[in-house]
Amino acid sequence: MNKLVSQREDFSAWYNNIVLRAGLADYAPVKGCMVIRPYGYGIWENIQSILDKMIKSVGVQNAYFPLFIPESFIHKEKEHLAGFSPELAVVTYGGGKELEEKLVVRPTSETIINAMFSKWIQSFRDLPLLINQWANIVRWEMRTRLFLRTTEFLWQEGHTAHSTHDEASEMTLTMLSIYRDFMQNSLSIPVICGKKTSSQRFAGALETYTLEAMMGDCKALQMGTSHDLGQNFSRAFDITYQTKENKLEYVWQTSWGVSTRLIGAVVMVHGDDDGLVLPPVIAPIQVVIIPIWRGDEKGKIMEAVISLKKRLRDTTGASGLPLRVYVDTREEFTPGFKFNDWEMKGVPLRIEIGPRDIENSTVTIARRDERTRTTVKNSQALDSVVKTLDEIQGNLYLRAKRFMEGNTYTVNDWNQFKQKTGFVLSHWCGSTECEANIQSETNMTIRCIPMDGEEENGSCILCGKPSNRRVVFAKAY
Ligand SMILES: [Zn+2]
Repeated sequence: MNKLVSQREDFSAWYNNIVLRAGLADYAPVKGCMVIRPYGYGIWENIQSILDKMIKSVGVQNAYFPLFIPESFIHKEKEHLAGFSPELAVVTYGGGKELEEKLVVRPTSETIINAMFSKWIQSFRDLPLLINQWANIVRWEMRTRLFLRTTEFLWQEGHTAHSTHDEASEMTLTMLSIYRDFMQNSLSIPVICGKKTSSQRFAGALETYTLEAMMGDCKALQMGTSHDLGQNFSRAFDITYQTKENKLEYVWQTSWGVSTRLIGAVVMVHGDDDGLVLPPVIAPIQVVIIPIWRGDEKGKIMEAVISLKKRLRDTTGASGLPLRVYVDTREEFTPGFKFNDWEMKGVPLRIEIGPRDIENSTVTIARRDERTRTTVKNSQALDSVVKTLDEIQGNLYLRAKRFMEGNTYTVNDWNQFKQKTGFVLSHWCGSTECEANIQSETNMTIRCIPMDGEEENGSCILCGKPSNRRVVFAKAY
């Protein structure tokens, strides 16, 4: 196999290479689509199982709505239509004949879910209604990248209805903080939370909150969003409820989602020139054991390997689940080849057991993140593995946080602004025109108006008009 392109040489080529060579995904016969391979899907399953519990912990229930949406539904909310229409895939034929009404392949499910909500919600007793679905969606993208932007992708989308705007706003923020906890604790990725500017808001939302992370090339990736929809969809779909006072009111709504794009983020935040580096919490394989023998040593070594594997599988990791352990018994490859192979796949811990380990009752443990190797007594192997996996999870987060902070700048001068790569904290006057001009001159967009940002008087980086807080600018995926 060819040597990998380094991150420094060409980050984008490095990324594609890693995704393909680690076996996460492959290009599909239809341009812009991807096949998620078992190793990549294993990461997605771990993401799903953790996040699904977190979503349910606030009272949300899972359901499933159809892939096809009557075209007329998409036309009901004007901004929503304008935002999505260039990306829609539309079915005009079915069962061998032209359809009476065209069907849109869902680009998101607000319209079909709200059509059902209008049937299900009658009185204040039906509220709040909190629904999530795990599904695939289709957006006809012109420029695609594996995991980051594909024509079809997997995601979860939550849709809720409430009796007051306060309650809906609170739900929007609850989901934002669930996403933040998940990204920081499970993916080991630090994020900046904030509001989108009006030009970047979700089509049909009053307010869009976003989580933004810095990738290894200092560009930003939008990791997830949570929308306060106000009454825009309830008015368009006539979702009303009878109040305790017998008045008829429109419901207040939210929607929120994250997608398989998160897998791309994990690759770009933690990966290095030798391959993936996976946070243990979501790694399909947390520990790989590699037996090393010559000639007649095999029997003794495999005995030790199998006994260790059994003990590890009976041990619970930080997630409370048994450790995910794999033994690489392939005889056609050298240990050196196997080391490289599992490093490419980003397995957090490698355990080597060779003849000397048997003699000394030891095992050798190698960390993928720091590339260190230590030898421990076999009797201490379990404790050491559990403790080290924990350390890796925390270390990856701290490393990513240091990287983000090291590439974040506070800038007040336009000439300096133009030269920066990374997150740039600057003043902005609030005008959409300035925002657009800054983008056309620098390719930087306003990623968010940060929520924990302090008020501070300053002047717009481009036009000099007064501003009372800094916003986060960056080039973005
Ligand atoms: Zn301005």
